[in-house]
Amino acid sequence: MYKYALVLTDVAKLGTKTFSYLIPDSMRSDIKIGQPVSVPFGPKRKIKGYIAGFSNYLEEGIKAKYIDEILDTEPLFTLEYLKLLEWVANYYFCDLPTVLKTALPQKFFEKNVKNYRKPRKENAALQKNEENKEHKLSPEQQKVYEEIKHVNAPNSLLYGITGSGKTEIYFKLIEDTIKEGKNVLFMAPEIALVSQLTMRTIKRFGADKVAIWHSSISEAEKYSVWQKLRQNEIKILFGARSAVFAPIKNLGLIIIDEEHDTSYKQTMPNPRYCAKHVAKELAKLHGAKIISGSATPDVESFWEAQNTNSLFELKNRYNNAQLPDVSIVDMKSERIDGNLGIFSRTLINRTKETIERGEQVIFLINRRGFSTYTQCMECAQVLECKKCAIPLIYHSQTNSWRCHYCGYEVKHPKCENCGSEELENFGTGSQRVEEIAKKIFEGMSVARLDSDSLNKKNEHIEILQKFQNGGINILIGTQMIAKGLDNPNVTLVGVINADLSFNLPDYRSSERGFSLLTQVAGRSGRGGHKGKVIFQTYNPQNLFLQKAKEQDYISFFEKEKELRQEYDYPPYSKIIRIIISSKEEFKAEHACLEITTHLENYIKKLSLDERIIVLGPTPCVIGKIRGEWRYNILIKNKLEQKGHDTVLGFLRKIILPNDIKMITDVDPSDIL
Ligand code: ADP
Ligand code: ZN
Ligand code: ZN
Repeated sequence: MYKYALVLTDVAKLGTKTFSYLIPDSMRSDIKIGQPVSVPFGPKRKIKGYIAGFSNYLEEGIKAKYIDEILDTEPLFTLEYLKLLEWVANYYFCDLPTVLKTALPQKFFEKNVKNYRKPRKENAALQKNEENKEHKLSPEQQKVYEEIKHVNAPNSLLYGITGSGKTEIYFKLIEDTIKEGKNVLFMAPEIALVSQLTMRTIKRFGADKVAIWHSSISEAEKYSVWQKLRQNEIKILFGARSAVFAPIKNLGLIIIDEEHDTSYKQTMPNPRYCAKHVAKELAKLHGAKIISGSATPDVESFWEAQNTNSLFELKNRYNNAQLPDVSIVDMKSERIDGNLGIFSRTLINRTKETIERGEQVIFLINRRGFSTYTQCMECAQVLECKKCAIPLIYHSQTNSWRCHYCGYEVKHPKCENCGSEELENFGTGSQRVEEIAKKIFEGMSVARLDSDSLNKKNEHIEILQKFQNGGINILIGTQMIAKGLDNPNVTLVGVINADLSFNLPDYRSSERGFSLLTQVAGRSGRGGHKGKVIFQTYNPQNLFLQKAKEQDYISFFEKEKELRQEYDYPPYSKIIRIIISSKEEFKAEHACLEITTHLENYIKKLSLDERIIVLGPTPCVIGKIRGEWRYNILIKNKLEQKGHDTVLGFLRKIILPNDIKMITDVDPSDIL
């Protein structure tokens, strides 16, 4: 029997926090983790909180008050649930209240939440219940399904080309799980994809068993879904990243669709968690299985699946539909022939033909975070750091080129390949492409979809809808249009500058580029007509571009694996990134240097310096954000958990002055 309870509260200004309260004798036998309670706060107020733990001790100088009342004997979450959140806090170097804030809808802390009015149109999309369609698996699908069904490994990877019918296999596994009386968590990277998949699932399983969970459903809806989950009324929960924190009871299966997608990782703010990784812990707690699927799996996932005999492959499109024809257009020759524009003559002509046939076109502008790089105009070689194999970035302030991994800097670069000094900096935005397209394709309906349109609430969905209905001839967009878009009338995809995909100053840039180009190519020719894809490039020889043209993941993977091994990048190490920032550059730089030196010494003393490699400090690629100068340290940990604990143990001891901030990003998805 404990004396004190830790009560989790959310008070304005203080945020989510736990406080200790005395447990009255009368409550001792009833009190449980996860129960909502009413507690006194300050001289007069009573607030709502949740039991989050017990203890027999108080910190000195604290005088605890008594818990007032248990508001509901049924806990809202379990001890296992708290354990999962604690794991997140520990692994991602973050405090528990911050994790709780991400996981628990804030509505929970409102006093009258019990009487909270049910939202009128609860999951409106789910109300429609069309006929129950069950597909018979193709022989190839059936074989893979049975293999996955009988594998012992807890995590399986389903690698299947676009349109191979991965979803049909998920459905069979879902059916089996439900028959066993267990529940399913189905994650997809984007909200738009989540709704598409949900509709498909409802057709198959009926609306009453299904619910949706992602950041843009209302808190009231979340609360209602939470209650249903708690009462075990929901069999299949759909969601994006944050759904991994939904308290599903009796979980039997987790599906992670499009598992290569970077949005499974939260990059900002804390906790900077990866839902794929958290899902593994969640599965462990429940003894559940995980099936991840992709046509272009994450290199780390593929490597792991290969090494644990849990890789399953669908080699053919369903019904033997054909993959599109991909061709590469050399923009250098276009220049030589006098076409200095951003559209090649081939792309212009194919676009016009396609639209005349009544079919639709997608143009992809890749503008991931950073889209500038420097290229040789003689031989197309991109300027790279010799030690890190990533592109150098031009800085106009210092008129120099820098490597943002190791700090290498050069003032007067020459092409590594041919020695030429004729170098040019590149970068094109989507707005400009739209303007130009509207001129060239006069009279046709051109629309743009990028993060600008995402910011306006429904615009994104409206544009997509109009495109699906044929009201838009040409859709221009950034990487978001590469995902899941299933419009059978699209028969041409043009990638304006395929090189941009490969030239991020990041060790993952080849992977991202390959994946993006392969996925966007997969949007073309999904209906009866064979599709076409055009990659415009200044560097037709780029090996990874060639692999994307062939849509050959395995051969891409083999090449990429070699490079990762050579430079000790994941999966051959785990990366921890530390970002130090300050309003004053010298402070950020100095603090970063000091931490690096201490960390290096610490690791050396433990004789781990061959297995934990510290790189830096260097200025971040994005050197200043909102007036804060940023420096970073990269740690390549080749010791798994032990290395992780060593580094985080060191970081825990750091105390910084108020004007210097530290961010720790475990397994960062990029290092800009
Ligand atoms: P993936 O998720 O691998 O890209 P999907 O599961 O979306 O592929 O399948 C592509 C298309 O083929 C979908 O329209 C789907 O309904 C159809 N399809 C796949 N397998 C079957 C099947 N066994 N029977 C009927 N249709 C199928
Ligand atoms: Zn050159
Ligand atoms: Zn370097």
